[in-house]
Order: sequence, then structure tokens, then C-alpha cells
Amino acid sequence: MSRVLVIGGGFAGVAAATALAEKGFAVELLESRGSLGGRVYSAQTPAFPAPVDNGPHLFMGCYEETWKLFKRLDTPDVFQRIDPMTLTWLTTDRKKVSLRCAPLPAPFHLAWGLLTTSAFSWSEKVKLTRALMRFSKKPFSFPADVRTVERFVLMTEQGPQALERFWIPLCNAVMNVPMDIAPLEGLAEVLHRVFFGKRSDSSLVLAQKPLSELGFSQVGAYLEKRGGKLRVHEGIQKFEVSEKSFTLTSRTEQTYQTDAVIWAVPPSSLSALWPNDGWAGPQNLPQLGKSPILSVHLILSRPILTEPLVGLPEGRFEWVFNRNANWDWKGQGQYLSLVASAAENLAKLSEKELVDIALEDLRDRLPEGTVLEVLHAKVTREMAATFVWTQATGPLRLPCETPYPFVFLAGDWTDTGLPATIEGACLSGHRAAEKAAAYLNKRGA
Ligand SMILES: Cc1cc2nc3c(=O)[nH]c(=O)nc-3n(C[C@H](O)[C@H](O)[C@H](O)COP(=O)(O)OP(=O)(O)OC[C@H]3O[C@@H](n4cnc5c(N)ncnc54)[C@H](O)[C@@H]3O)c2cc1C
Repeated sequence: MSRVLVIGGGFAGVAAATALAEKGFAVELLESRGSLGGRVYSAQTPAFPAPVDNGPHLFMGCYEETWKLFKRLDTPDVFQRIDPMTLTWLTTDRKKVSLRCAPLPAPFHLAWGLLTTSAFSWSEKVKLTRALMRFSKKPFSFPADVRTVERFVLMTEQGPQALERFWIPLCNAVMNVPMDIAPLEGLAEVLHRVFFGKRSDSSLVLAQKPLSELGFSQVGAYLEKRGGKLRVHEGIQKFEVSEKSFTLTSRTEQTYQTDAVIWAVPPSSLSALWPNDGWAGPQNLPQLGKSPILSVHLILSRPILTEPLVGLPEGRFEWVFNRNANWDWKGQGQYLSLVASAAENLAKLSEKELVDIALEDLRDRLPEGTVLEVLHAKVTREMAATFVWTQATGPLRLPCETPYPFVFLAGDWTDTGLPATIEGACLSGHRAAEKAAAYLNKRGA
């Protein structure tokens, strides 16, 4: 039986390792931390009376590769699916407006939602519909000078409410970079998948448990049952590779030599560990940059929201996840997590300043005079939440293949055509598993 190493236990590594194990390979998954999940995790601290996600994560119905992974692990379904998609915003004129798609096949579900919503003026609805239709069929065709999301919204003359309620929060959440630098190709691919497949592809999918409880506790048993092993606290510190073989050395001085290896680590780790072999790819990875996501988690003395998720247009924080609704959290008061993506401008503020801004964003959108009494507050900062995908950095994303036929790459930053998301990570992991299996099968034949 061929043996494969997968390094890194985020979604990309877990997808790669379990897909290969499913195909009958003995897989060792090595993870430097004490648990799996990578950038998707929650923690419990004495200072806050509930689990805290490192940042609330939104899944989508169209996350096909992600659902394939959960199905493989046969984990209990811990997700709430909002299908047909409904988006609700709390506006600065203190109103609640919604876009409610209809229980119709796509894209009529969206057309109905746009027709009936009061979130946009009639002329904005027409322009928004026309703009979205440009993502209905591939290959997409845009003028040569329309490469960023900002250029696209200018070209299609999107109005102020469409910008504030749709394009800006969508671009920040999906791409984690602002519209003026976000490449249109990335958002186009996502909009195509979300709105122009099946209706359920556009459903918003919310975890009903804190992120560390989504089901990765079963990965070790899954690998062992198929002749493999999970090793945590086993960070790789050295990588030596030649035309015929490779050796990996871990923090515990253990050495590994197998038939193939998949690196599923963040770009900074790969760049630091890749030997100086003349391949510029890994050396250039630091230029991918880092884009932060900040979250403020608040427990308020009394409930102010019933919806599981609301948008805050024109706010510094864009989305509010309601943990009482998401997790059926039953502690005292209301637990809300507010998230700011592409949050470079907020990254240096103190915890107190961030909490004050989050409260201001809420207060400005709730009925006049609403009192917000904070029982507990906590800030989570992910300074390297994703890489910075722009026109300039796009070509630095590396393919799955490397100069060595037995070494493969995975991770949300590889050239998946998708932004850095859980789905991009799972896609990259499954792709690496396919390529590694093809190599090993050919070699064995
Ligand atoms: C706050 C926040 C909010 C987000 N929101 C969303 C969202 O709403 N929806 C969405 O789809 N995506 C979201 N994302 C993005 C998503 O979390 C990532 O795209 C995805 O988790 C990346 O997975 P990965 O496996 O590629 O990388 P990672 O999760 O970074 O996994 C890499 C793993 O490699 C390990 N590792 C590193 N070096 C070594 C080494 N030398 N040896 C062994 N192991 C090593 C790391 O410990 C880590 O576990 C968000 C990210 C953050 C941070």
C-alpha cells in the first residue's frame, strides 16, 4: 500500500488526507497544533462565559467540496440552511429590510427576491439584476479594462443602496479585500456558483455549533481505520528534497519518508520551509500579503435580534451573527458576534475602541433610544485571515504540482480560481488528493 504524508490539518489538509484514505492509501496527517481545523476554530476562556469562534464563518449551499468532506466523515449535520436565501439588513434609518428569495428554481428565486424587496429602488433593482445576469454564463466576458469589482460596479452604474447593501459587504466577505483591488474574476466565479446553479446553492449555511465542534474529532479514527494516522503537535521544521525522494523532519526530531507528500500549510510556512532549489514560486509567497478579519463578541443584557444573521450596511462591522439563534445558546442575555472583513483600517485599534465601534454600529441601526448594556465583550483578531488577492498577486498563487512529481500543494491560497474560503481550501485538498493518487497509481502500475 502506498504511503502519503499530508502536512497541515486545516480544511485543505483534512480534505486531502481523508480523500486519499478513502481511495485506499495509508495517510499520515501531521499538524503542528494540538487540534485540526486550522483557521477555523473556537476557544473557551475564563474571561468570557461562552465559546468564542476565532471569527464567525458563513458557509454556502454551493460549497460542494466542503459538503463532500463532511459527508465522507459522516459527521452529524450541524448546519442550519437558510433556503431560499434571505438577507436582512438593519439600515441607518433604523429600518429592517430584507431580500427574500422565492421557493422557485434558480435564478427565478433571486429574480422574485429582487422584484419584491424594498432594499433597493426600482432603478437599482434593474441595474443590479442586469449586472448579476452577466455572471450567469461562463466564460464571462468583460471589457479589458474592467478587472476589479469597483470597475465593474462603476461600469454597470450600481446605485448607492446596491453598493452599501450588496456589493461592498459581499466583496469584503467573499474576497476579504476591498472592491478597488478585488479581482472581478474571483467574485464572478462565486456569484456564478451561488446564483446560477441550483436554488439551494444560494442558501446561507450557518454552523449550529462553535467551530471546533464541527466534526473533525473523527478524522484520526477515519485515517486509522484505513491504515493511516493523525499526529498533532507534530510541526514539520525541515524539508529536504531531491529528484527521487524527500525527507521531512519534525519538531520532535522524527523523520518521515513516504511515497508522496501534500503540503497543506499557509503560504508563509511553505515559503519558510521550501529548500533553496531555484524554484521561485515558494520564495515569492510572502508577496501574497495578509488581510485581517476582526470580530467583536458581545453578550448584551437583553435580546435585540431574532434573526440568525443580519447585515449592517455602511457600518464598520458588516455582519452580526446571533448565537442564541445559531447555536441555541441559552446563557443569560443575547450573544452576538460582529465581523469586519478586509479590516486593515480597524486592525490597529484597541479592544475598547473596537467594542465601542461595534456598539455604535448597532445603536445607529436599532430603534431610537435602544439601550445596549454589555455584560461581556471579547475581540478576536485574525491578522492573516487570508492572503490579499489582487491583479498583482493572483499570478503568485501556485498550482497543485511542483517541480517534484511526488510533491503536491494544497491550501486556500493555491490557484483554485476561488477566493480564500473553506470551499477553496477543500477544493484544493481534493484536487491534490486526485493528483497524488494518479501519480501513485501510475508509478505502481
Ligand atoms: C476570522 C476568519 C473568518 C473567515 N470567514 C470565512 C467564512 O465566513 N467563510 C469561508 O468560507 N471562509 C472563511 N474564512 C477563510 C477560511 O477559514 C480559510 O480559507 C480556510 O480555513 C483555510 O484552510 P486551509 O486548510 O487552506 O489553511 P489553514 O486553515 O491555515 O490550515 C493550515 C494548517 O497547517 C498547519 N501548519 C502550518 N505549518 C505547519 C507545519 N510546518 N507543520 C505542520 N502543520 C503546519 C496549521 O497549524 C494549520 O492547521 C475565514 C477565515 C478567518 C481567519
